[in-house]
Amino acid sequence: MMVKPGISFSSGLGKLVLLSFCIGCSVNPHRDSEKQKPDILLIVYDTVRADRAGCYGHPEPVTSLLDRMSRMGAMFSTAVAPAPWTLPSHASMLTGVYPHRHGARFVPPGLGLDMVGHSIGLADPAIATFPLLLKSAQYFSICVGGAPALNPILGITRDFDIVDVYGSNRSAETINHNLFEYLESVAPGKPVCVLVNYFDAHGPYVRMDLEGSPWLRDLDGPRFTNFYRKMPDGRMLVEQIGAGDFIPSTGMLHYARALYDSEIAYVDRQCENLLLFWARHRDLDHTLLILTADHGELFGENGLVDHARTLDDEVLKVPLIVRMPGRVPARIIQYPVSLVDLFATVTHFAGVQNSPDTDSESLARFWRSNPVRSSLAASEVYRDARWVELTSPAFDRDQRALYLDEFKIVWDHRKSPGIRQSPILNFESSDSREHVLSRAGEWDRAHPTVLPVSAELHPAIHEELKALGYVPGESME
Ligand SMILES: [Zn+2]
Repeated sequence: MMVKPGISFSSGLGKLVLLSFCIGCSVNPHRDSEKQKPDILLIVYDTVRADRAGCYGHPEPVTSLLDRMSRMGAMFSTAVAPAPWTLPSHASMLTGVYPHRHGARFVPPGLGLDMVGHSIGLADPAIATFPLLLKSAQYFSICVGGAPALNPILGITRDFDIVDVYGSNRSAETINHNLFEYLESVAPGKPVCVLVNYFDAHGPYVRMDLEGSPWLRDLDGPRFTNFYRKMPDGRMLVEQIGAGDFIPSTGMLHYARALYDSEIAYVDRQCENLLLFWARHRDLDHTLLILTADHGELFGENGLVDHARTLDDEVLKVPLIVRMPGRVPARIIQYPVSLVDLFATVTHFAGVQNSPDTDSESLARFWRSNPVRSSLAASEVYRDARWVELTSPAFDRDQRALYLDEFKIVWDHRKSPGIRQSPILNFESSDSREHVLSRAGEWDRAHPTVLPVSAELHPAIHEELKALGYVPGESME
């Protein structure tokens, strides 16, 4: 096996950067760290692919905060989203199981749920989320963000004490403003568990106040980068591109990437504001801080823009940085890891028993005394009937990707069980090829797709949606 060992930064460098950053200077005088549970702060930069962060190789200075934080904690260089879009990816973070098990991935026919991208939520209301488990440890939990998929009627955020997620146009500043008020109302000494979802980098990229940013300088591309805009034939531009009926120009894509970078830089600055607030009002050094994204974005790769339809690296590889001084050593970890592991990581640091039947394992395995020898991360995408109808039969498929140590395997699950294509495999010998394919097959057989693609809504969710008037043909009660 050719996996390289992690590269460690010295703790001294971390301290130096930390002080210059002015975060971490405050220590809560009331904290008895030996007894008090750490706070949990999970921050999701929605739609931010890893390679737009400087610490993951982007040459532009877009993510100043992420870059500094990457030197103060564990940075995972191959962090993989469990799904290429918002709802199933967040659901996996919160439940610790892959999309084929939690079910927040469906496109039920006839359910006009435009507000959430024609999807439904957790298929089984009995699936545990980490805010639910943390209640037993007296945590107060808050979810605040801009992604409509986090609406509690879809189930994934139902167990937070406060959920404030409406409005995809809500800015990160507004999210911070609301969160600061909630945090100030928390009783002293009570541990908190917070999920923040910053939605600005999700398309359309329309932050006009950033027109003067350095990434837009000297660009003269077409001034429309809203890939969701309606075109004369009634389809959205993203659908025309998916069908191959519109080929975005190099200039358009260049301009879209520049606006995207501006949105990411804005989110990164607002995240820094949140951490500065946290350092003043909580105890940042006694907080499990997780910085990540739910999926990435395409800008012409594979002939597509946007996300949600493929398992390309650009939509699956996301930033992942975990920081907690004294408990998380500063290092770079190259093994692939999945965001499903955030569930067990959070419960582990909170001192709460993990659910026995999850796909999740604490990331702390990478800094325990027993060295990790192998690691696996999976991702799944399922057929979207409406997308197939509007674009191409080529998308009529269910696919899985498996990142297994240094290998990636992609296969189509509906058309031919087992391995169908392996586009980036680079085996050194036939023996390793056989070994990797064997392990991938084992994982596939151990994780059957138990929920049918056209699953019925769970009766409890159906009743909630019906009461809200979202079920066609059934009047509000
Ligand atoms: Zn998203």
